[in-house]
Amino acid sequence: MTDLVNKLIRTELKALVPYESARRLFSMASSSEVETTWLNANENPYVPNVSIDPSMYNRYPDFQPEPLINGYASYAGVSAQQVLATRGADEGIELLIRTFCSSNDNIIICPPTYGMYAISAKTHGCGVIDIPLLDGMQLDVKGILANKQKANLIFICSPNNPTGDLAKNADIINIIESVSDDCIVVLDEAYIEFCADATSMSLINQFNNVVVLRTLSKAFGLAGLRCGFTLTNDNIIQALKKVIAPYPIPVPVAQIATQTLSADGIKWMQNKVVELNQLRDDFIKLAATWSFVEHVYPSQTNFVLLKLKQPLTASSVMQTFQQQNVLLRDQSKQLMLGNTVRVSIGNPQQMEQVISIFSKVEQTL
Ligand SMILES: *Cc1c(COP(=O)(O)O)cnc(C)c1O
Repeated sequence: MTDLVNKLIRTELKALVPYESARRLFSMASSSEVETTWLNANENPYVPNVSIDPSMYNRYPDFQPEPLINGYASYAGVSAQQVLATRGADEGIELLIRTFCSSNDNIIICPPTYGMYAISAKTHGCGVIDIPLLDGMQLDVKGILANKQKANLIFICSPNNPTGDLAKNADIINIIESVSDDCIVVLDEAYIEFCADATSMSLINQFNNVVVLRTLSKAFGLAGLRCGFTLTNDNIIQALKKVIAPYPIPVPVAQIATQTLSADGIKWMQNKVVELNQLRDDFIKLAATWSFVEHVYPSQTNFVLLKLKQPLTASSVMQTFQQQNVLLRDQSKQLMLGNTVRVSIGNPQQMEQVISIFSKVEQTL
């Protein structure tokens, strides 16, 4: 850091380590010479068929493009007034924190979980209260409620990344009801398409302190688009609209996202979900038979977390795969997840590649 940057940068940012996104660890440009199997960011291996029309690129986009909002509202079964489109679900997380937390405030998170809640809080200068998941990766409801007066937002990721399982519905409702005078509960449903029946969407109609986050980055196969949705009541949306950028959704993003939310687009996504869920279940069954796997975490998503048995280490597995240009994600730094790797579900050929490398690992033990 130069002296000037060091003098001027906000104190709380000095020690902050930026989010190690899958793409910061391994960029697409650096791997362009070789065919890489990307199984480190829970992306969809398939891309929907979409087109763009540049005739309006000289114009600023609508603040919240109506066809896009109507398309998502209809898909999610809510009203258009309950939908805010954002640059990915990540921007939804950040907007909630910027809108509802000052520097004396806190958010509650339940690790091991998605890393961006804590990063967004820290870059904004507000505090993070960790209420770790209990054995069996369930929510510590008592622990959360004991801290409700210290926090403004509670982030619950269900299905949870990187463990892959769902929070108990009764726990979610219990928390929402018990904090109704103190906190907004944010339900991150980035992976909900892989277990669509488990959605908590109806809760935004029943309670005034519930927000649901959604994205086109996972099941819809559009991570590169940067389009997500914050679904909640009109009061919370109006507050978020004070903070969001004036033109958050670029014209081509709105065009592509709107197409993907057509009946055909949704059917495409649902077909991919059926295929990927089958591949996931097959992979889970097989992984459970490998002697070097201590635990296969149950998953309702397009990824599977494996706990490896010592002396096999997550970093050596990462290396073995990387040597064959297959990228997985090491989750060992996360609370309670020592020696784990996360495998995103790819297409059948990619899964065969993964299985063949793991089988060789098994043989060399
Ligand atoms: C991928 C992911 C997000 C971010 O989604 P974007 O729409 O790509 O910003 C949010 N939450 C969880 C749990 C995720 O895994």
